[in-house]
Amino acid sequence: MIRYDITPTELQTLIDARVPGWRARTKTRTDSFRDLGKYQEDSSIWSEVKPVFMEIQGRSKCCFCEKKYEDSKLGRYELDIEHFRPKGNVRHWTLASNLAKEGVMLTAPDPGRRGYYLLTYHLWNYAVACKSCNSALKKDYFPISARYDLDGTNPWNMKGEKPWLIYPIGQLDNDPEDVIDFYGYLARSKATDHHLKLRGVVTITFFSLNDAILRKELLKDRALVIIVLYRLLLKAKNGDQDSTTSVSEMLKPTSRHTNCARSFKRLFEFDEVEAAEIAELSEQFYLSGSP
Ligand SMILES: [Zn+2]
Repeated sequence: MIRYDITPTELQTLIDARVPGWRARTKTRTDSFRDLGKYQEDSSIWSEVKPVFMEIQGRSKCCFCEKKYEDSKLGRYELDIEHFRPKGNVRHWTLASNLAKEGVMLTAPDPGRRGYYLLTYHLWNYAVACKSCNSALKKDYFPISARYDLDGTNPWNMKGEKPWLIYPIGQLDNDPEDVIDFYGYLARSKATDHHLKLRGVVTITFFSLNDAILRKELLKDRALVIIVLYRLLLKAKNGDQDSTTSVSEMLKPTSRHTNCARSFKRLFEFDEVEAAEIAELSEQFYLSGSP
């Protein structure tokens, strides 16, 4: 994960320019949810702003796993608008045993099966995520450690819920790169602050970011990034300008697995022998089980 920086004003301006009238239409819908006291929708209109979020997020990257997809013409079918705080219902997430041992506590969601209905059309409740991260893993979960504020109207004022998952758009939450980095193709929680460290562990576990069986292809994608980057870093070190340019490209937010690439570059600069070992292990992993 990385942060995709944008201010509320910039986001609003982008939405107004690309989807004129969308905010006015959603205000009407949100007002009706307020009257009803719950989410109730026959036809949603959040997909209309999906291309804007795809553009913001490094041009079509999943906000959680950093896989990259085609631009909005095709990529919109592969990426979902994710409601970070679920709109219609918050399901109880079963805590993995390793997290319980680490001291992660979960608040039980409202048994009345309600969600954050007033955030259905809140821009700061959106991100785009791949089908694996959103439909298969995120679902209607939103693990927190404090009290659910299901009547909340603005995520910027809801940090007191103490969400476990990290939200990567703008400055609303911690910078994901302050929480998670990578050792080789594997994610690791890096913060020194205890609670933040647990947030990293929960996020990695929740999205199975290191599961070599469930997410084998994701891990192989990251291994491939390391293999290519290592070769470029060696050439760049010997003065090859094209390789230097290519390394810069691989570290940009618009590249796939930017956090992993940046982490590996830091390792290369810190300890080249260890980086060589990691590149070798990445190559072994990438080739393992390939047809
Ligand atoms: Zn994903």
